[in-house]
Amino acid sequence: MTDIVVLGSTNMDLVAYVEKPPQRGETVTGREFRTVPGGKGANQATAAAHAGGAVSIIGAVGNDSFGARLRSTLEHAGVNTDHLRTVEAPSGTAHIVVDDDGGNAIVVVPGANGTVDHLAPGDEGLIASADALLLQLEVPLAAVVAGARAARAHGVRTILTPAPARPLPPELLDATDLLVPNEHEATALTGRTDPHEAAAVLLDSVPAVVITLGAAGSLYAARGAEPLTVPAPRVTAVDSTGAGDTFVGALAVALGEERPVREALAWAAAAAALSVQRPGASASMPYRSEIETRYA
Ligand code: ADP
Repeated sequence: MTDIVVLGSTNMDLVAYVEKPPQRGETVTGREFRTVPGGKGANQATAAAHAGGAVSIIGAVGNDSFGARLRSTLEHAGVNTDHLRTVEAPSGTAHIVVDDDGGNAIVVVPGANGTVDHLAPGDEGLIASADALLLQLEVPLAAVVAGARAARAHGVRTILTPAPARPLPPELLDATDLLVPNEHEATALTGRTDPHEAAAVLLDSVPAVVITLGAAGSLYAARGAEPLTVPAPRVTAVDSTGAGDTFVGALAVALGEERPVREALAWAAAAAALSVQRPGASASMPYRSEIETRYA
């Protein structure tokens, strides 16, 4: 089994469905409300666990009912939460208004995630024992850098999803083995809209990059190798929320099993294609047996 540690965020998504979003000062009546456990860290952990990894998460939840539910949801997915701290802060929340045109407006309040600005005792030992460390940018950069450095010091593969997009400090890039931006993040990081050009720029800073291209699949580029484009299965997408996180979680599992890169990318694409055919983020993340069937 691939041992994976995720250092990242947990959020409760509070989703209101409305006909039209309210303007400033206006009150509108919504049609429906849902609470959905999310956060990129939790989503990647869930995806990797469903895909067959042995997964632990480093992060924090609040000492509130959302925190309890975020923790139990992860445990239910098979994720080890021994390093998920409960802190005196509200759990992270994302306040999402979805309108009938499919548009959305989102306020993220980091809450407990904001306290994840360092490695706690025991975290480095956990990272040292892993095959891969998955990182995103929804917890303070200081912890992301500390995690990446710890992984590098112990020869553990680091996989960084640069979302939400922001400039990446050299000390983080220096400790990153594989950078996995989507198209928008790749453009934000490089100023290039062409994925091949963006990948070439990113290879100045990291040894390998996968740019995810939505329904068009993914582009892999590594120093000294020919770039590789891997298509996505043709499916009817109903909800692409969390597609990128599903892709990364499954990719980490496949790479940990030492599958060749092309095969690992196709396997991750099979997992992500399954997830976009179902509503929700973590709820839509496929299990290993389903991925194997779709991939075969
Ligand atoms: P993000 O979810 O971060 O915005 P992408 O939209 O690039 O990232 O999607 C990540 C991966 O999910 C893609 O590389 C692809 O494998 C898969 N995917 C996304 N949308 C679709 C789709 N409509 N059909 C098939 N696969 C998809």
